[in-house]
Amino acid sequence: MAEKVLIIKYGEIAMRGNNRYIFINRLISAIRRNIDPMGNYYVVRDPGRLIVEDRGGELDYDLLIPRIVPIFGLVAVCPGVRLADMTFETILEESLQHMKEQYGDQQISFKVRTRRANQGFTMPSMDVNMKVGEYLLEQMPNLRVDVHNPDVMLNIEIRNSTYVHSKVIKTYGGLPYGSSGKGVSLLSGGIDSPVATWMMAKRGVEVEGVYFHSPPYTSEWAKEKVIDLAKRIADFTGEFRLYVVPFTELQLYLLDNVAHDKLTIHLKRAMMRAGEMIAKKDDAMALITGESVGQVASQTMQGIFAINAVCEMPVLRPLAGMDKQEIVNLAQKIGTFEISARPYEDCCTVFVAKHPVTKPRLSFIEKSERRLTELDRLLEESVQNAEIIDL
Ligand code: ATP
Ligand code: MG
Repeated sequence: MAEKVLIIKYGEIAMRGNNRYIFINRLISAIRRNIDPMGNYYVVRDPGRLIVEDRGGELDYDLLIPRIVPIFGLVAVCPGVRLADMTFETILEESLQHMKEQYGDQQISFKVRTRRANQGFTMPSMDVNMKVGEYLLEQMPNLRVDVHNPDVMLNIEIRNSTYVHSKVIKTYGGLPYGSSGKGVSLLSGGIDSPVATWMMAKRGVEVEGVYFHSPPYTSEWAKEKVIDLAKRIADFTGEFRLYVVPFTELQLYLLDNVAHDKLTIHLKRAMMRAGEMIAKKDDAMALITGESVGQVASQTMQGIFAINAVCEMPVLRPLAGMDKQEIVNLAQKIGTFEISARPYEDCCTVFVAKHPVTKPRLSFIEKSERRLTELDRLLEESVQNAEIIDL
């Protein structure tokens, strides 16, 4: 009897020479972390693939697939079966069995694709394709062959074991989470920064979030929203640390002491500095923001220049070149949009200038900042009083 398994494909990491071993181990741990709570499983290596087998009963595709899909570094997951042996008779019978089970008497076109990674099996792939195809046509009158654009691609993979599958569920790609060092993400309750955080996590960067909270100007609801966004990100990363940094005093200080049209620039610079303090403390190597060139007054090239100048670390801006609609589409796809779209304002109008400067001059910004004698102290205090929430 064939056994139900999940065949998991990984991509980019296959090319990464010596790191390969470490990366695959990371993938296996991520898979284990997500599925171990659901039952008793093996995760087996087969060159270029990982195979999930149920040690107890029959594997439940619907239970496991949603837990595999969010793992970064995987390219696809295929529900399929592992055959009891490698004989051609078994391949023939199990292919038929699989097609009957999956498609019953639906009128569909199909194509057989055999890959032979195991040279112990001598029949050429083309012959397997033809013979299995003919047999299926004989046994299932509802099928027809279409070699160019089939509804169903029946895959026969002859490896250490032999696998049959016909559904490919694409996953997000990227690199195994945590394989690229750490970054601190400035995470607001908006649409953009959760997407930016997710994108860098997808590239293997271990991420932490920093949210600047200014009660009572920003409500508890706004904070809840950020926590929920952080939880959603943790669905992909497995864990997520969020710093909630109290920023009211600092923000009021800026309000009283800088030109109103430049308030946002000063505030963003203060956020960058606080983010960098946390990053240094936690051995992170970069900041991450949801800025997108030209999206708002502070995100003109001049604005980004003036904000960026305060940082020593690289600032990763994965959304820099994306349109709002592209960002929204991605937010919907990864499940942050609904949370971000909740109607709680994240910034009180007192802090928003009617006509913010769009071309701030760095020399002017720095000059006025030199007069802010309390700024360093307020920054230190904010960071020291941050609340840490581990998700
Ligand atoms: P978002 O949708 O991410 O809030 P935005 O389009 O509202 O972005 P800005 O308000 O200009 O843009 O903020 C630019 C970036 O600064 C944000 O993407 C985020 O990384 C960071 N940021 C802004 N406000 C906060 C906050 N309260 N806490 C943490 N980071 C923030
Ligand atoms: Mg915002």
